[in-house]
Amino acid sequence: HGAQTAVEKSVELIDGVEAAAYEPGVSKPTRAAFVVLVRNSDLRGMKQAMRQIEDRFNRRFNYPYVFLNDVPFTDEFMVETRAMTRANVSFGTIPHEHWSYPAWINQTYAQECRQRMHAQKVFYALSESYRHMCRFYSGFFFQHPLLQDLDYYWRIEPDVEYTCDINYDPFLFMHRRGIKYGYTIALHEYPETIPTLWTTIKSHIAKHPEFVRHPAGMRWLSANSGDTYNGCHFWSNFEIGSLEFFRSPEYQAYFEHLDHAGGFFYERWGDAPVHAIAAALMLQKHEVHWFQDIGYYHNPWHNCPQDAESRLRCHCDPAKNAASHYWASCTHEWLDLPDTNTTGPPHISAMHA
Ligand code: GDP
Ligand code: MN
Repeated sequence: HGAQTAVEKSVELIDGVEAAAYEPGVSKPTRAAFVVLVRNSDLRGMKQAMRQIEDRFNRRFNYPYVFLNDVPFTDEFMVETRAMTRANVSFGTIPHEHWSYPAWINQTYAQECRQRMHAQKVFYALSESYRHMCRFYSGFFFQHPLLQDLDYYWRIEPDVEYTCDINYDPFLFMHRRGIKYGYTIALHEYPETIPTLWTTIKSHIAKHPEFVRHPAGMRWLSANSGDTYNGCHFWSNFEIGSLEFFRSPEYQAYFEHLDHAGGFFYERWGDAPVHAIAAALMLQKHEVHWFQDIGYYHNPWHNCPQDAESRLRCHCDPAKNAASHYWASCTHEWLDLPDTNTTGPPHISAMHA
């Protein structure tokens, strides 16, 4: 009888998802991992982020970490990050063709463009590595061999903070509900980093009208039926996503179209608008989820749950919350979209049957 009670406790449901914990090494209900592109010099900030992720979530769930880098990781980085967790940790380098100039890029012109953006005081205007990073996250991370056996990834970065206990498995939550993309913060992009991104998107849609499977998403991206882009995007330093979505031929054709246009190098297109425009137009409303309950901080924005119950599992300041910021945030604009889907997400109890 005592054992029965223990079993009942371990399957406590939080929002319909089992709040069970998983031991290191045992198979998990979803094939998922934390995925981190990071520099050796980010070690301290990486350990800080891992400390909070472990304390708030992963010491009970034990999802593995995949660290990626454009150069080999140092022994110091590998030893010290491994010491942060009982979960499996792996380290990979990025293939050269995923972190270099493609043949069609005019590097002399790219350098002139960087100088011009520098004169306009654009953040990271002169940085080539920042552009490789954005291009890698836009089009290549999901192809890395260390992610081959995974269905979902949770992107993390050095120096971020996780400010609330996470008492359920967000990967399983997404899997059960058919969610393909999860975010915490949605903002407006700096227009000077993407002068020709939107015309390039429009030329892709003109060639491939079937890319737009969710026409209502256009209302979130544009105030004038697609004429201009309002900059709304999900902030991609936090993402929990379906790798199947990014690996789809439709997404890859979209990325290739953008990549050939050259804006990753001649401008400074971010992976955040690239991911978000695809998610808004390719996914249905209910396939994109705001993790309102995941307390998160990346300088300078917070996602901080507002309800009284969350105060008991969070340490963030509820007054600091991006979604409450009336001009900076795009979160409520997404929530206000109609759900045009006719079938709806699969019913939770039906999936248990
Ligand atoms: P920001 O958030 O837009 O200011 O950009 P970050 O500097 O945080 O970079 C985004 C992510 O890419 C972070 O996880 C960085 O550690 C990582 N990153 C940025 N540049 C490089 C680089 O040149 N090499 C490697 N290995 N990682 C990088
Ligand atoms: Mn960052």
